[in-house]
Amino acid sequence: MIGDCEFWDGLEWIWNFQWRRELFQWELELVHQLHERLRPVKLLDGKDDNMVWKFDSKGVFSTKSVVQVLQSETLSDEITSYSFTSSVWRGVVPPRIELFGWFVLIGRVNTKERLSRLGIIRFSDNLCVLCKKEIESVEHLFLLCELTWQV
Ligand SMILES: [Zn+2]
Repeated sequence: MIGDCEFWDGLEWIWNFQWRRELFQWELELVHQLHERLRPVKLLDGKDDNMVWKFDSKGVFSTKSVVQVLQSETLSDEITSYSFTSSVWRGVVPPRIELFGWFVLIGRVNTKERLSRLGIIRFSDNLCVLCKKEIESVEHLFLLCELTWQV
């Protein structure tokens, strides 16, 4: 809970995050930025945290609300021009596979190309994990890679 990430030192609230592993050098800057953004945030003392799903009027998470958010998301004309984009949600496969298919369609899969663009991995380490010949983009990994075609 959010309240577990902060404590009162007698004068002010101090954010105290617990990380599961040692942070990389580039992550330390992100943590610094996070602390800067959280500096003006003050929690109410004596009130318990609770989780609220902001995409539902009652604050309750449901996969249906996720689907509605994803469908209402602004997508490029290229993606919405394909007739099969809405057919992803017809319930033919389990919801997690539908969701993954949707992320592939909108390019939100953490391929090496995306991770290097976001600064999570080095740019020099973005070759396809399967063929090691091309940059691992969504298009390459799921459509163009010679090993994907063999599958
Ligand atoms: Zn490949």
